Amino acid sequence: MPERKKGLMIVVSGPAGSGKDTVLAELQGDERFRRSVSATTRAPRPGEVDGRDYHFITRETFEQWIADGEMLEYTEYCGNYYGTPKKAAEAVMESGTNLILKIEVEGAANVERLYPEAVTIMLLPPTAAVLEARLRGRGTESEEVIRTRLARAREEVAHVKDYDYVVYNHDGRAAEAAEMIRRIVEVEGHSTARNPHIAEAYFA
Ligand code: 5GP
Repeated sequence: MPERKKGLMIVVSGPAGSGKDTVLAELQGDERFRRSVSATTRAPRPGEVDGRDYHFITRETFEQWIADGEMLEYTEYCGNYYGTPKKAAEAVMESGTNLILKIEVEGAANVERLYPEAVTIMLLPPTAAVLEARLRGRGTESEEVIRTRLARAREEVAHVKDYDYVVYNHDGRAAEAAEMIRRIVEVEGHSTARNPHIAEAYFA
């Protein structure tokens, strides 16, 4: 049976409150998937580890990496650079492991242009009301901040049509959303468009 050797590039986007990190954490430990570690110029948040959560680098270094062609894609988001280091990403896919990029909508559109074979997934809370409730969280933020975040989320959701798949993340059911991502990837592995030499290989 011919096997597809290279891993797939899987783009996961979703507005704040979609629970991307929780869902992707469910895929940790599954050797078929590896998260790409992005580079960023933003400061680490408490608990974040350099090299695990992000490569935390200076603007100068980031711009040097861009100039050297080291970035597969990058974007400026809320005043900071974020990007996917190219060599590490390609090494993961070459090894046959599926690579997960957790990136925002603009980066996802860039990836789609450069790698049309990428599988793009938007993760959403099940309804707009749940999205709002999650953004309001414990009510520690001002109404103005919440409104800004809601407006941004609305803009991001508007891009859902540009994605191949949508996955809903219900409260407390992140494992189900992760399972849906696994299934999508499994089905994509059976795509004849992705495996154009099946007949030749079959009779070889
Ligand atoms: P945060 O600062 O909350 O970790 O991330 C902010 C946004 O940047 C999120 O939407 C996240 O998905 C996105 N992001 C993280 N890494 C990358 C990357 O390498 N490229 C792009 N385009 N976006 C990224």
